[in-house]
Amino acid sequence: MLAHDRLARFTRHIVLPEIGGAGQVALASAHVALVGLGGIGSPVLQYLAAAGIGTLTLIDDDAVDASNLQRQTIYAEADIGRPKAEAAAAWIKRFDGALDARAVRVRVGRDWAARAFESVSLVVDGCDNFATRLAVSNACVAQAVPLLSAAVGRFQGQVGAFAGHLADQPCYRCYVGDAFDAEDCDSCAEDGMLGAMAGWVGTFAALQAVRVLLRGVGGMGDPQFGKLHVLDGLAPGLRTMRIAKDPACSGCSGG
Ligand SMILES: [Zn+2]
Repeated sequence: MLAHDRLARFTRHIVLPEIGGAGQVALASAHVALVGLGGIGSPVLQYLAAAGIGTLTLIDDDAVDASNLQRQTIYAEADIGRPKAEAAAAWIKRFDGALDARAVRVRVGRDWAARAFESVSLVVDGCDNFATRLAVSNACVAQAVPLLSAAVGRFQGQVGAFAGHLADQPCYRCYVGDAFDAEDCDSCAEDGMLGAMAGWVGTFAALQAVRVLLRGVGGMGDPQFGKLHVLDGLAPGLRTMRIAKDPACSGCSGG
């Protein structure tokens, strides 16, 4: 049951037959962990907080830099130098005091991720390097938590939902393989990035996150596990491909 003020706040969700009261209760009960509070993490955080996700764990080891403000929309000039996890939690507190925002200032690696997602309904990964992405993927498979992975570079974005803990579903590692476990294989620090492109990918990731959270409850249909959506900002357009489960994958198949 939602309190009266919460009903009023989420009316536009509740009147959607695809969400309804039961869907809104499911969102309020959900716990989402966000890995990476940058250009993708900012809009993901804003739209998931606005959707009334009850608990948000905010994970990033970085501090706000002046060059982030061009696309990382939750931060302002006064946040420069402040840890992103802390500034992001403060943003949520200002926005909706009923939500539980937990700041975690840590760099996600193999060791940290091992038990990190125990009470989490969904992990959304919008970080900037493959080593973290793969550590997060392995942790999600081990802890049977779905993963929504989102990435952007220049004018191309990718958003995919993974449930590698299920026998017939690929994990993120099935898609990229083992070649990228080394630190700092990629980074958008040197590449150019149109701010709105990160926003498009992030808001699409937030939409897909709600879809995964409402599987079996609302009417948004298939959670689209194992499908990768590729967003092209130049054409512009969107195409979708299916990722196959790799029977030799070291992340989900014991290969
Ligand atoms: Zn796999």
